[in-house]
Amino acid sequence: MTAPFLEALAGIVGPARLAVDAATRDAAGRDALLRGHAPDAVVTPGSTAEIAAIARACHEARVPLTVRGAGTGYTGGAVPVRGGVVLSMARFDRILAIDAANLLAVVQPNVVTRALHDAVEAQGLFYPPDPASLARCALGGNVAEDAGGPRAFKYGTTRRYVLALEAVLPTGEIIRTGAKTVKNVTGYALTDLLVGSEGTLAILTEITLRLVPKPAAQRTFSATFATIDAAARAVSAVVQAGVVPATLEILDRASLDAVAAHVGRPMAPAGSEALLVVEVDGSEPAAVHDAAIATAACRGAGATSLVEASTSEAREAVWEARRELSFALRRLAPRKINHDVVVPRGRLPELYALVDRLRADHALSIAAFGHAGDGNLHVNLMVDPADTAMMQRAAAAEAALFAGVVALEGSISGEHGIGYAKAAYLGLQLTAAEIALMQRLKQAFDPHGILNPGKLWDTSAADLDGLTDAPPAP
Ligand SMILES: Cc1cc2nc3c(=O)[nH]c(=O)nc-3n(C[C@H](O)[C@H](O)[C@H](O)COP(=O)(O)OP(=O)(O)OC[C@H]3O[C@@H](n4cnc5c(N)ncnc54)[C@H](O)[C@@H]3O)c2cc1C
Repeated sequence: MTAPFLEALAGIVGPARLAVDAATRDAAGRDALLRGHAPDAVVTPGSTAEIAAIARACHEARVPLTVRGAGTGYTGGAVPVRGGVVLSMARFDRILAIDAANLLAVVQPNVVTRALHDAVEAQGLFYPPDPASLARCALGGNVAEDAGGPRAFKYGTTRRYVLALEAVLPTGEIIRTGAKTVKNVTGYALTDLLVGSEGTLAILTEITLRLVPKPAAQRTFSATFATIDAAARAVSAVVQAGVVPATLEILDRASLDAVAAHVGRPMAPAGSEALLVVEVDGSEPAAVHDAAIATAACRGAGATSLVEASTSEAREAVWEARRELSFALRRLAPRKINHDVVVPRGRLPELYALVDRLRADHALSIAAFGHAGDGNLHVNLMVDPADTAMMQRAAAAEAALFAGVVALEGSISGEHGIGYAKAAYLGLQLTAAEIALMQRLKQAFDPHGILNPGKLWDTSAADLDGLTDAPPAP
């Protein structure tokens, strides 16, 4: 990066908001994948006008520009694989309005997701999207990745809640998409195009989100099953009984064993191969009614035990296995490769059968758990990066997993996006014509291809070769 270009950036944001030191660049070059590439400079603008000026400068000088939210992404989306400028949204962290009459909130993109939950719930309102990372991730990153979470089963993913956006195009133009209204069919649905665009089409600077009234009551229970197949079939039985729970999570034997080792006591009766955690919500009578129907459906599907929670302490106990899972898995292997695959709900038994085949064919430890109501499983390949043969087996298992999921009419990503990490597999799910159409859309937004290059179809072998692992934690 040339000295005049750096001077131009400093002129836009002020010298104190431009960093070129190694520590800042390194920290801004990684996400939760812990494999990254340092940018040449990090800028932290404070206004939409500054962002527009940065974009224009990068567009004119053909310098790569990558937006960074909270950096919790799992697919390298915020990693500047070709260097250039990282644009940190850190200063865009204010809730601008909570409008109870119109059931909406206007936020800057780097508001932490939990901060919005807390603020709206204090007013009797509810923002449903709840990625497990909600204490750290930011709403702009959630919109860019169309983040999901346990509550997506009943409430849908982030997309359902985005009404309007202010965004800066890579050319420096400022646009507003959508409207504050429930209905809006004026022009193309640009808001929907930007949701899930993984920071490749525009820089989000303001987000208008739909809220709903906070549910008055919840009922939670867990159910164990003697086979994973029975548990997976119980998921469909609950839905067919006419209930859509707020969350319906599944843990397999490997996940239950990991948590049991972590907390020092069993999480399910001996002989259990799977656990479902089910939560319904709504008015008090509706929650009681739905819980009764869902427990009956689980019993009918062969549940071997049921634990119902009517107090908040009991509810926490029911959630314990699911909550402790991420920490527990860390004990199984030095690294987990977490794939967020999704299939139509009714094909969950086939997805679990596929995971069993991967365990056997590739001699790997795999824990598969997740949002069963959505058909969205986190398939975690537990690996040791120092074991080259194991890493080769994991790569083969990964390819077989993605091919198998597409054959089951599913998707290679239900939550985390493609980034650079899954770019090699995009062609499994999308045809050449579909990718070419996306490339033409990208060209229309970003004629010089400066915004977040090296992602989706654009990831090259050189991009991947340039990545380095984060140093091990001290
Ligand atoms: C422990 C853990 C649990 C997780 N659980 C879930 C889960 O349950 N569900 C789920 O969906 N995800 C989950 N994730 C993944 C991650 O938290 C989400 O993808 C989240 O939405 C990323 O938000 P972020 O602010 O950290 O974005 P970043 O990682 O900073 O960026 C992600 C992408 O968004 C783009 N971006 C960020 N801000 C903007 C902006 N203002 N304008 C344009 N583009 C932008 C970036 O360029 C990048 O491409 C989890 C991650 C971890 C570490």
